[in-house]
Amino acid sequence: MAAILIVEDEERIASFVAKGLRAEGHQPTVVGDGRQALDEAMTGLYDLVILDIGLPGLDGFEVLDQLRSQGSRVPVIVLTARDSVTDTVTALEGGADDYMPKPFRFAELLARVRLRLRQPEQAASARPEHLVVGDVLLDLRTRQAEISGRVVELSAREFALAEIFTLNPGQVLSREQLLDHVWGYDFDPGSNVVDVYVGYLRKKFGADTISTVRGMGYRFNAR
Ligand code: CA
Repeated sequence: MAAILIVEDEERIASFVAKGLRAEGHQPTVVGDGRQALDEAMTGLYDLVILDIGLPGLDGFEVLDQLRSQGSRVPVIVLTARDSVTDTVTALEGGADDYMPKPFRFAELLARVRLRLRQPEQAASARPEHLVVGDVLLDLRTRQAEISGRVVELSAREFALAEIFTLNPGQVLSREQLLDHVWGYDFDPGSNVVDVYVGYLRKKFGADTISTVRGMGYRFNAR
């Protein structure tokens, strides 16, 4: 199972790709805006990004360019227009690992996805085995947490929430971002489930590890 970010503003295509990937046992997340896509891709939570070119906010070339210049090596498959050789060349020169001309059959895309996910060197660099922030350590293989060497029991949801926080220390994460990652992007945004789980993590990690940033979200602090 791989976490795959689908960046596509055309809902019909996005849901067709997401549905297909889910049927293959993967965990897709869809965003339709270039800026949001860059934020998501930079979280380090994804094994692969499928990136459309024509997007609101930033276009796919700009997303790719910023992603690579900020040091991310996550594999990227760019969706290009079938008749545009320029798009394809620009994408590959800009650091894309592969491209998929539109329109495409799902099987064609899936073959490229499989190929990219099979490259162990990239997968290993995209996903570390441990995350350490201050005195908090998360072991991503055993899904266990430690505070100053002491093991702390976390539920699967708590661990997933702790994971996104420790991947982004010192950064404000919105409720929507946290919901998307831990509960799936179609979860009711009016729900207070994020606040409840932040409360659980504060009890386990110490109240000062997660600050509330009014009107914006939450921030994980190194101690
Ligand atoms: Ca588009």
